[in-house]
Amino acid sequence: MEKEFPIKIGLEIHGYLNTKEKLFCMCLTSGDEKPNSRICPICTGQPGSKPMLPNKKAVEQVIKIALVLGCKINHDKGLVWNRKHYSWPDLPKGYQNTISGAYSVPVGEKGKFQGIRITEVHLEEDPAQWNPETGKINYNRSGLPLIEIVTEPEFSSEEDVVFWLRSLMHNLSYIKAIRKDLGIKADVNVSTYGERVEIKNLHSITDIKKAIEYEVERQIENHKKGITQTRETLTYDSAKGRTIKMREKESGEDYRFIPDPDLPTIRLDEKGIKKISAGMPEMPDVKLKKLIKTYKIDKANAEILAKNLELVEFVESLAEKGVDVSKNISWITIELLRVLNYNKKALEEVEIKPEHLADLIKEVEKSNITPLKAKQIMNEFIPKSFPISKKSGIGMLPEEEVEKFCKQAIKKNPKAVKDFKSGNSTAINFIIGEVMKLSGRRADYRKVRNTILTIINKKTK
Ligand SMILES: [Zn+2]
Repeated sequence: MEKEFPIKIGLEIHGYLNTKEKLFCMCLTSGDEKPNSRICPICTGQPGSKPMLPNKKAVEQVIKIALVLGCKINHDKGLVWNRKHYSWPDLPKGYQNTISGAYSVPVGEKGKFQGIRITEVHLEEDPAQWNPETGKINYNRSGLPLIEIVTEPEFSSEEDVVFWLRSLMHNLSYIKAIRKDLGIKADVNVSTYGERVEIKNLHSITDIKKAIEYEVERQIENHKKGITQTRETLTYDSAKGRTIKMREKESGEDYRFIPDPDLPTIRLDEKGIKKISAGMPEMPDVKLKKLIKTYKIDKANAEILAKNLELVEFVESLAEKGVDVSKNISWITIELLRVLNYNKKALEEVEIKPEHLADLIKEVEKSNITPLKAKQIMNEFIPKSFPISKKSGIGMLPEEEVEKFCKQAIKKNPKAVKDFKSGNSTAINFIIGEVMKLSGRRADYRKVRNTILTIINKKTK
């Protein structure tokens, strides 16, 4: 039998911080996607240009992420910007600015998130994008603020990694610290029997999963053949589904880290960190518990809501406005999501006020508006909701009007009436549908059904 062996996997995850401007200049981080449309002498590394003071928002975002990851924030030590030297066409200055490496104290360290210890969290700038085939360089990404999260090698399978990464992204989405549109980049280290290898530049959770799967398998096979694994740096070819050796890892690449004389040491103060912490929302697991315990929402619906902080907060405001959210949860998890999906919008991209939906739900509960009419009104809530008191001609119709429409529908559809009488009980739905159309969905469904039945039965007699 194969002897048990320890699989150890560690991650270095890079994400783009959600800021309007770049790290050391005022160029925008998104917008015009034409190559080299968002650049200046600073982010293209022109001789004589000097960085501006680091973007405060980026530092704040890193602190938030470090707090989510349970890290100790290094407020008592100065954070030194280093120059990390390497020669590559994507790096015009010849160095990358980073708060990592020798002489440096990371923004946060010694954390723990979902059972995995976090070594450190630091801030750095993104290099440009170099296309080796055309030789062209796009500097739009040069100087974008990046976070690097380094974990201890404590994962033991690719499933663990995927589950943890999804949870990480979910938690970080609550604080809006990372840009979703640019994705993540990760370096993954894997060790089984021999030395550990590092797989560089994985661009998606799917690739991370496949690369680990392949690499563990490969190392086990090699072990069976008696090949000892040495330290290596690999890349992953996602088209071929395999890892490829880049180089033997020299013991510690020499980046010649030196403190950057153009950038002042960052000193965080404890008060400021407390303030940032106090302004952060509750995290997904706390919200999930609240939805289930406080608002009595069933687990399946609570899980749908907890995926998105805006949805949870929307439900919380509905509850504050006196809506029984447990009883009326389908207005959110079915109707609201239906309207959003139909319009391909997220809740934060539209202007739907909880009080407007609260009023609508209450009117339905009081039988002043039919559910069908309410659903139709909700369609109009995008892109902007409105108080329903401003809308006339939406209330439930009085009985005599309902009766009038029922008579019309019956007269118009003799075949459906005949089918119904000869035993096809579903034929009545067709007539009900007609009445709904005629009444602009303002007739109560049950009333319509009963009225139609009464009229038809009377006629038979
Ligand atoms: Zn710039």
